[in-house]
Amino acid sequence: MNKELRKAVIAGNWKMNKTPSEAKALIEELKPLVKNASCDVVICVPYVDLAVAIETCKGSNIKVGAQNMHFEKSGAFTGEISAQMLKEIGIEYVIIGHSERRQYFNETDITVNKKVKFVLENNIIPILCVGETLEQREQGITAELVALQIKNALLDITTKQAKKIIIAYEPVWAIGTGKTATCEQANEVNGIIRSTLAKIYDENTANSITIQYGGSMNASNADELLSKEHIDGGLIGGASLKANDFTVIIKAASK
Ligand code: PEP
Repeated sequence: MNKELRKAVIAGNWKMNKTPSEAKALIEELKPLVKNASCDVVICVPYVDLAVAIETCKGSNIKVGAQNMHFEKSGAFTGEISAQMLKEIGIEYVIIGHSERRQYFNETDITVNKKVKFVLENNIIPILCVGETLEQREQGITAELVALQIKNALLDITTKQAKKIIIAYEPVWAIGTGKTATCEQANEVNGIIRSTLAKIYDENTANSITIQYGGSMNASNADELLSKEHIDGGLIGGASLKANDFTVIIKAASK
């Protein structure tokens, strides 16, 4: 097993939940619960919560991420936020290519690639999401599809840059549905992602990249999922909104 070569990272994706005052309250609740975690703990919060999250997390081991950004530096893109803006307020992570962005906001492999490049140029860590729909799984094309998403997202990304990326395998059919991929299904696809990375880069690089699983990971199934060879952490939606549940997952990743 090469698990010791990479960092375990548990990241919460709050999606469109929590006002700034609610965000502050949740972070205050979380801080003492996770202070001894040996994995990295990240919360990806709505834009309007970023400033309060940065302030509230100061001096703690919780890092703050955004859920999206635009791939241009600045300009006439009403309603958008750039990587420079995120960097200046102290954001360390940003989720790129979440399936909800691909599904509802026309995000494509091309825009995902542009965003990954731009985020890395600004020294922010991208949490790059890939995953198949139920139809694609039933068609038997999961392996090819996920490999293609990875290849497209990492076009022109150097080995040095790739080592900074976190990848989240998130089967679309498991997100927010309560349906979790089995440990074997999740580990198998994470393994396919790792061998794709080895083909694009090399074995050492592939073994150093954190690959998370996301899709209804919760306090009851985290332990088993995180024990698998290729599952190095989790991207957690619903369960990250409950301090106690999120803490159980963080403890499972800290073992
Ligand atoms: C997600 O939003 O990335 C996610 C995995 O959500 P959930 O845990 O609620 O399925």
